Amino acid sequence: MDNLNCIRCGLCLAVCPTYREVLSETASPRGRAVLARKGLEGEFALSPNLIEQMYACFDCMACNEICPVGIRPADLAVDMRRVQEQIQPAVWKDVLFGGLIPNPGRMELATWPLRAYEKLGIRRLVYSLGLHRLMPKQVRDLDAMLPHLPQRPLRQVLLEVSKANGESRYRVGFFLGCAQSLMFADESAATVRVLARNGCTVITPKETVCCGMPALGYGRPDLVREQARHNITLFEQAQVEVIVTDCATCGSTLKEYGHLLADDNEWAARAAAFSEKVRDVSEFLMSIPLEKPQGRVEARVTYHDPCHLRRGQGVWQQPRTLLQMIDGLEFVELPEADWCCGSAGSQLITHYETSLKVLQRKMENLESTQAEYIASGCPGCQMQLNVGAQRRGLEVQVVHPIALLDRAYNKESIVARDVGRVAKHIAKSPKAETQPEAISAGANNLCQLEEGD
Ligand code: SF4
Ligand code: SF4
Repeated sequence: MDNLNCIRCGLCLAVCPTYREVLSETASPRGRAVLARKGLEGEFALSPNLIEQMYACFDCMACNEICPVGIRPADLAVDMRRVQEQIQPAVWKDVLFGGLIPNPGRMELATWPLRAYEKLGIRRLVYSLGLHRLMPKQVRDLDAMLPHLPQRPLRQVLLEVSKANGESRYRVGFFLGCAQSLMFADESAATVRVLARNGCTVITPKETVCCGMPALGYGRPDLVREQARHNITLFEQAQVEVIVTDCATCGSTLKEYGHLLADDNEWAARAAAFSEKVRDVSEFLMSIPLEKPQGRVEARVTYHDPCHLRRGQGVWQQPRTLLQMIDGLEFVELPEADWCCGSAGSQLITHYETSLKVLQRKMENLESTQAEYIASGCPGCQMQLNVGAQRRGLEVQVVHPIALLDRAYNKESIVARDVGRVAKHIAKSPKAETQPEAISAGANNLCQLEEGD
């Protein structure tokens, strides 16, 4: 357990998004640290109210970073969730985090209605007729969270081995996250293309399971350990030098496998070796000689730091540098770029009002930049930003930084007029790269096309 000797300096209050909105001591890192301490020492019962304060934490880790005596209140909140699960396990978590989420086939089946909603044109119809305005607010927000959904999960159409464009200089394992495969297929297809373009043979094991973050966040590291062992074995078999992911949340969890399995004699060394190889895609690309893209992106672009990338992995400069490599792109720094967007995985569902208040602050900052694109390498953040943009009626598109880089490589000219409201984006026809055939052609075909330009 972490250091519990809070000196009550209050520094953490200034950086805590939940405290700033709720203005209650129990919703602050300092308050949570006290509750955790008293709970663990037996002075307070682990009541539903106390545990609720632990779940109301967005785990943005800003308090961990600022605390001068190393309290790590964010870790304490997650630890307390684990302690609660040990005392009183919730069966639904076994079903959700042990049975559904770590099974890609079941997840694909469970999310089929969402793809059908888009594929059959129902979503388009709902928006073009303005029916979305009739939805209850929270349902409308959940709908706005969804990106332009792929017809098929990327896992089903991406090649297991994508050859390097030209000489192969790196053998890279690609960890395809659940949300990336199910919802952001275009972006992960772009990641593979960009890697291949820069001399990587990309191996994407198809049997990978969820990185484990949802189970970790809900106090079930026991379930994550099994998932970790499975994923480690797959990448060992793939014999890759480095393991790349384009999901900030997956990256931060995969980098924790060494820590999670440290007490397991059989797996500790293997897990540590695995975590040592994990890189965010921007981190990896900035560590190798990178081809300068020839295309231009004539747009004003800003960048939001996902908590799991900036604080979870210490990666913040690399995505900015990648964006600034693109000719024509006008990069504008987002005020409070590292302030949580309010997503925190499922907070828009479980703590709707607070999540929206935190999001509003992000949107005010975004509006001040007058950006046409906001880039962020986390599916949770992207979905939350989509909600914010739609609620505020901002003419901004939410993208992964690699998607912009990919378009610049493909000499796809992007100008500000491409930008539309999220509703318009949802309503328009699917783009070519969304089609399964285009994705299944993989990195190689696209690279060959470009060679023939
Ligand atoms: S992790 Fe973030 S939301 Fe949670 S207590 Fe710390 S600063 Fe507040
Ligand atoms: S910054 Fe650390 S020591 Fe200061 S009040 Fe917060 S938890 Fe306590």
